[in-house]
Amino acid sequence: MNEHEMLAMYEDAGALLNGHFVLSSGRHSARYLQSALVLMNIDNATALAKELIGKVDARDIDMVVSPAIGGLVIGQEVARLLHKPFIFTERKEGVMQMRRGFAIPEDARLLVVEDVITTGGSVCECMDVVRRHGGKPVKVLAVVDRAPDAEGRFDVPHETAIHLSVETHAADECPLCREGVLPAIKPGSRGAV
Ligand code: ZN
Repeated sequence: MNEHEMLAMYEDAGALLNGHFVLSSGRHSARYLQSALVLMNIDNATALAKELIGKVDARDIDMVVSPAIGGLVIGQEVARLLHKPFIFTERKEGVMQMRRGFAIPEDARLLVVEDVITTGGSVCECMDVVRRHGGKPVKVLAVVDRAPDAEGRFDVPHETAIHLSVETHAADECPLCREGVLPAIKPGSRGAV
């Protein structure tokens, strides 16, 4: 599947949204990819997960981890295809942590899987949690990276299935806010109502 086909998958699912959005990072954008709508269809999840596992050698991975909520569906599917255990981290009162009795064996190598990366904040917090529990994050894979050219966000290699260079703006510098035409909406999970 090429990138054009992957984006067509988003369009077909009504998941490529145009408007005025507040991203989970707090930045504003005129475009939003609502991966949950694509991943509703398990065949789409499988197709995207296959794209991602082509970027990793299963022998280098002991477990798969995702930051909830966005990474759960694609992370589980990647883990299923790799035949590896899957765990997730989640926010409680805003703090990323590992709950539900999950444990990481000492020095286990973890593949971190996310649906959409913007600033990479959730992924970094997820990796911090993994390290605190004795694991070693070895790679980050994401379906969509909204800023694929941003360097230095992660201290492990990262790859993405879809590159989408979409301008994002700090909230106080957002041209859409200045125009005042469309109210900003939060389509994601964190902080959404
Ligand atoms: Zn705005």
